[in-house]
Amino acid sequence: MNILIAEDDAPSRLILQSLLTKWGYTVTAVADGDEAWRILCEPDHPLLVILDWMMPGIEGPEIVRRLRVKEGSTPHYVIIMTSGTCENTPVLALDSGADDFIAKPFNHAELRARVNVGCRITHLHEALAEKLHKLESASETISRLARTDELTGLHNRRSFNESFTLALSSARRHNHPLSLISIDLDNFKRINDTFGHSTGDLVLKEFSDLLKEMVRIEDIASRWGGEEFIILLPNTSRDAAVTLAERIRSIFENQASSAKPLSVTASFGVAQLQNGENEDDLIRRVDNALYEAKREGRNRVVAY
Ligand code: GH3
Ligand code: MG
Ligand code: MG
Ligand code: MG
Repeated sequence: MNILIAEDDAPSRLILQSLLTKWGYTVTAVADGDEAWRILCEPDHPLLVILDWMMPGIEGPEIVRRLRVKEGSTPHYVIIMTSGTCENTPVLALDSGADDFIAKPFNHAELRARVNVGCRITHLHEALAEKLHKLESASETISRLARTDELTGLHNRRSFNESFTLALSSARRHNHPLSLISIDLDNFKRINDTFGHSTGDLVLKEFSDLLKEMVRIEDIASRWGGEEFIILLPNTSRDAAVTLAERIRSIFENQASSAKPLSVTASFGVAQLQNGENEDDLIRRVDNALYEAKREGRNRVVAY
């Protein structure tokens, strides 16, 4: 463990340094507060710090106050050395934010015991910070997975619904257009029945990759379930949504790939948010448009 010592009295500093080194610590020793603060501002500086109360430059308690303001998830453990002349100094040292104090002249065994406590607590802080970091990244992963469709990597229905509610209220507030494209792959049961479920899965993935490629960053392309998809298009008029749907339809129809043993097509419904509509109303209308596309013979785009 690394320790920083700041002590202006050379003999005391040398004794401290040699004792701590003997006890297995790696020591950085400086003779004034400004130098101590400079080191504490460097990356990867020692977290265990022994500061003299009075020294040239910034004094011990002021260094502690500054440290407490800037320190992040791994706090420092600070021991302030107080000269025994004033009985109030231990209280002032702790009140300034120090974790402990050692009265000078110090007893070697006591110094060793107190530094060991600091070392133990610093290790605990470090372990805690590492656990916290892992927890944060695990929680990020969980929240990403909770919003992602496992097979296709698209947004799932939950994620779509969250974005839909936000986008709808933003569209209303700013009076911007908002459109939906609802998609259902045509005769998909036949693909599974003829080529097997895993081929069906590949087709779903390929179609999803096409959607990801075709939409803008602010659009939400989602798997509604099964072979049904829905795209949320903020700031998009019905006509622009129709153009996009038609491009996706045409590319998919003509896309040749090993995963598509026969031509697979998709039907599309398009609708734009109207005044006074809620989520359910708009979904109902875009689904009606999709049913109409199916009814008219599939592989087409119908706008409500
Ligand atoms: P239509 O043109 O009327 O939509 O016909 P369809 O066959 O696509 O519609 P239907 O609802 O009868 O069948 C949907 C099929 O999609 C049946 C189901 O097995 C398949 N399916 C749903 N989810 C998945 C999946 O995750 N993987 C695979 N391979 N197939 C799926
Ligand atoms: Mg001093
Ligand atoms: Mg379907
Ligand atoms: Mg279908």
